[in-house]
Amino acid sequence: KPCILWFRRDLRLDDHPALRAAAEGGRPVIPLYIRDHAVDDLGAAPKWRLGLGLEAFAATLKGAGSRLILRAGPALEVLEEVIAQTGAGAVYWSRLYDPQAQERDSRVKAALKDRGVEAKSFAGHLLYEPWTVETQQGGFYKVYSPMWRAVKDREIAKPLPRPALTAPADWPASDRLDDWALGGAMRRGAGVVGEHVKPGAEAAHRRLGQFAAHRLRNYKADRDMVAEDGTSGMSQYLSLGEISPRECWHAATGSGQGAETFRKELVWREFAYHLMFHTPRILDANWREDWDAFPWNEDARRKEVIAWKQGRTGVPFVDAAMREMYVTGTMHNRARMIVASYLTKHLMCHWRIGQQWFEDCLVDWDPASNAMGWQWTAGSGPDAAPYFRIFNPETQAAKFDPDGTYRRRWLAEGQARPTRTALSYFDAIPLRWGLRPSDPPPTPLIALEEGRKRALETYQARET
Ligand code: FAD
Repeated sequence: KPCILWFRRDLRLDDHPALRAAAEGGRPVIPLYIRDHAVDDLGAAPKWRLGLGLEAFAATLKGAGSRLILRAGPALEVLEEVIAQTGAGAVYWSRLYDPQAQERDSRVKAALKDRGVEAKSFAGHLLYEPWTVETQQGGFYKVYSPMWRAVKDREIAKPLPRPALTAPADWPASDRLDDWALGGAMRRGAGVVGEHVKPGAEAAHRRLGQFAAHRLRNYKADRDMVAEDGTSGMSQYLSLGEISPRECWHAATGSGQGAETFRKELVWREFAYHLMFHTPRILDANWREDWDAFPWNEDARRKEVIAWKQGRTGVPFVDAAMREMYVTGTMHNRARMIVASYLTKHLMCHWRIGQQWFEDCLVDWDPASNAMGWQWTAGSGPDAAPYFRIFNPETQAAKFDPDGTYRRRWLAEGQARPTRTALSYFDAIPLRWGLRPSDPPPTPLIALEEGRKRALETYQARET
């Protein structure tokens, strides 16, 4: 009897424990992707990126003599239909750790077992599943550094080779990917963003190989320089599971500082998942409840919020970064911290407004890392930067974009000869924003010193 492999955020054949188990002994495998609520609810850019990922993955499966079956509907209903149509005796999948997926998956598992179908979940999305890392007191980690120390010397198993896939005697019907129109909500020019995105496992491996060969050695110093291509670019591949975290971990060989720093970053991702699993409220509520009384601005329609989203705050570093995200679907990590700090501190807007905009714009959107990143920067999260540590975008720019390359790359206004990338922003944005490269540079929403003072005073008033 065939085994259904229910793919979700694991669009790869290599290092895939569930797929290896499904294919064992030459058992026929039916690769299935279900468009359920979890997919429909995705933000515009991650959903569009998923469509590219599915297209690439379908081609990979075809090359391996298999197929990707696409079906839409509630997961359990779809699985039951496909089981009825194919006589499959088992459904395998890789575990996810956000509360909605967990609830759905345990319901599916129980219902399939009731019907006598083998339902089995496997690890694969993380290096360490959240319950396998414990403090000495038996609790979970709320601070990153001790978690890093606890896991850094653990043996990480070598990535598994891809299995040979046997096709079932009959294939069930599949939807057409184009009909799903996963890019439909991308109001910006998807063509412009498309120039910056290379989907699929093959592209992921190529990029990881180049990073390991050329960039890893200087990663510790280069990773903060926003104009450099000094980081791995793995986040969008990890998000969809086009590459596994073990493959990334083992690419960072050698004892150099670059390798260790890179592994530390991979463990930040693990920490985000650890926190989301143990305290799922991190996704939508202040992780520190004493922040609930903080007078955030919560109205996303305010003109300051719109200016922030459009990259028109009048702070060049912030504006460059917001435009980078709009055009490429990603933003440098240092810049993410700066724009998040500016929104939550200088503009005193609720971190959820920023979290949701990132969720709509990032091709590497990840529920755990995005929530942790926002709450960390805002001060409301675990192991967070204290609220009174307010990034100054000008000194940050002087340090991490000393010759202004990054700002020139993304800002056209006021430039005699704007760069091609800066102009591409105007091809990406909707016409109704009514912006042009010949506009004067935006005037600052608030003087940096004034915003900083206001934030600090509000924070101190709350303390007393
Ligand atoms: P590299 O520097 O090459 O790092 C390697 C890998 O380590 C990354 O691919 C990522 O998986 C992990 N990593 C690195 N830094 C972090 C971090 N701070 N937190 C968690 N994991 C990390 N990352 C996402 O993947 N999705 C998000 O939606 C996301 N939202 C963020 C929001 C804010 C406000 C902030 C401050 C950070 C956010 N991050 C998010 C984390 C980080 O910015 C990105 O992972 C990183 O920029 C991706 O680039 P890279 O793959 O080249 O990273």
